[in-house]
Amino acid sequence: MRLMTDKIRVIPEACSGFLMCHLACSFAFTKSYNPAKSRILIEEVDATEPFRISFTEECNDCGLCVRYCFYEALKMEGRKRIA
Ligand code: SF4
Repeated sequence: MRLMTDKIRVIPEACSGFLMCHLACSFAFTKSYNPAKSRILIEEVDATEPFRISFTEECNDCGLCVRYCFYEALKMEGRKRIA
């Protein structure tokens, strides 16, 4: 598990726990909507840090999860957001 990647900047305080990033990643790589197979992990922590965002070692920095984060909790470094 990694708390960041080379290309994706994480803004955890903006995360709503909506989990579209989970679904987009799992569908892209497993052709199923299965958050357990997502390469991005969103965990509820506590009131001071509602959500912790991390990435598995299999994350390839493709940026799909960034496109599906409507709350801008994920940002691609060095690129303009596409969506
Ligand atoms: S960058 Fe790509 S592989 Fe990594 S968590 Fe996001 S969608 Fe999954």
